[in-house]
Amino acid sequence: MDDLERQHAIRHELPPPGVTGATLEELSAALVDCRACPRLVQWREQVARERRAAFATEEYWGRPVPGFGDPNARLVVVGLAPAAHGANRTGRMFTGDRSGDWLFRALHRNGFANQPTSRDRRDGLRLVDAWITGAVRCAPPGNRPTPPERDACGAWLDAELRLLNNVVAYVCLGAYAYVSLWRSLGRLGLALPRPRPRFRHGLTVALRSQSISASYHPSQQNTFTGKLTEEMLDDVLQRVRQAIDG
Ligand code: SF4
Repeated sequence: MDDLERQHAIRHELPPPGVTGATLEELSAALVDCRACPRLVQWREQVARERRAAFATEEYWGRPVPGFGDPNARLVVVGLAPAAHGANRTGRMFTGDRSGDWLFRALHRNGFANQPTSRDRRDGLRLVDAWITGAVRCAPPGNRPTPPERDACGAWLDAELRLLNNVVAYVCLGAYAYVSLWRSLGRLGLALPRPRPRFRHGLTVALRSQSISASYHPSQQNTFTGKLTEEMLDDVLQRVRQAIDG
């Protein structure tokens, strides 16, 4: 642990305030006021003030980004964290950036979204039997939360997963999401195989009544280089579709 991490660890000895909620709506309402991670609060708000030239006339969200979708979802998709000029701008997970363009096209092709595009919070997008969330809810500099930030925000993920009662399948986008989900399910008391299987694209781990699948994250780093193709992501989602439809 370096000095920065130690400094943040001290602040994170207590769970973030406001991790409560009898419903997903109440949880989201509490989440958007969270200021538990000083470095991330500073960054998300700085990005929202300075803005990218292409979005200079837009009002950025600049706050924690809640999960969204169908509260009765059987599929939960877990990402890393809001993108600085994507979800941190629009206020909805994976909305307004290239990763989201890629993800929502795939969800639509596989029947988990009513439309293939995701532009802003009022664009008519509706997830079908799916919920999208993230390991960390505030945009981190360089897309790299510190371990204490991940652990602090894990309390929100735990609370959210507790309220999603119909989940049959988790799809983790990237190794960070995979490890974070694993830790969260462990804290919630699920019996998980040990040792944890190593992350790889296409991995599926069967639990007692659920499964965890893994895909490379649809970041431009992966999609522009061909590390992740549309066929590869479809393959993961099609297998999930078969599993939840029986
Ligand atoms: Fe709160 Fe999570 Fe944002 Fe940290 S990253 S301030 S725990 S919402």
